[in-house]
Amino acid sequence: MQYEGNIIRPPSEANSIILQVTAGCSYNKCTFCGAYKDKPFRIRHESIDADIEFAAQYCRRQKRVFLADGDALILPFAQLLHIFIKIRHELPWVNRISLYANARAIRSKTKEELLHLKSLGLDRVYLGLESGDDRILSSIRKGETSRSMIAAADRITECALFLSVTLLLGIAGRELSAVHAENTGKVLTRMAPGQIAALTVMPIPGTKLFIDIQEERFFLPDSHSLLRELQKVIQFISLDRVQFYANHASNYLQLSGRLQKDKERMLSLIDAALSGSIQLIAEEHRAL
Ligand code: SF4
Repeated sequence: MQYEGNIIRPPSEANSIILQVTAGCSYNKCTFCGAYKDKPFRIRHESIDADIEFAAQYCRRQKRVFLADGDALILPFAQLLHIFIKIRHELPWVNRISLYANARAIRSKTKEELLHLKSLGLDRVYLGLESGDDRILSSIRKGETSRSMIAAADRITECALFLSVTLLLGIAGRELSAVHAENTGKVLTRMAPGQIAALTVMPIPGTKLFIDIQEERFFLPDSHSLLRELQKVIQFISLDRVQFYANHASNYLQLSGRLQKDKERMLSLIDAALSGSIQLIAEEHRAL
């Protein structure tokens, strides 16, 4: 398998066969994201078939496939169809195909096209919401609004595909932290994903956010404010049976549970962390 640059994948895809069908992100403008800054977007025409054939020989114990990089769903439908059919044919033991998709990539596919991909194994779509507040989405140059994010989520859930959504603690800075938390909780409720993952902003050199912090145009909330932000997001999510993860290495407190069932337990743990009876992850142990 030949990979180009660093491969980024969700933690839950750790055991998946990673097929890098595109390099980079077709959008690549979010102010906080340094994942693909040095990797111009392109479709990896030359290696897709060879990589699937390699997996057919050497990855027979892995039952899941993750299509990388940043937004594999942006590939033209005909190309996706070719990839999915080849996976079905060459890797018949694979029972789940997942990918990252931004809202623009989701919009680029009709419901019928998504259902067709689902019939060939597409199971899980990972979407970065980051914030449910329109001012913040605009300031981080996400290129979307809360409305367009909800519409993208609707298209995925209407096809009965599993939707996993990430939010970004700290991305609103200090002043808008509370409004970010409240609106993110509300938009997540409307999106009704199967899984929610909270990450915490870590400024990456070379990004606009990093420069804004250095030049004192943006101020990151401190760890306690971030905990209060997390608490508020959870308070404003009113969904039943959604898995909530805040156990990413970037977070100051590791937390996971099912909402609403574990809501009070998670809120109490945050209270305990705020009062100092649970130790926070040390700054030097945080990572992206
Ligand atoms: S956050 Fe997602 S959509 Fe934005 S630049 Fe990074 S990979 Fe692309």
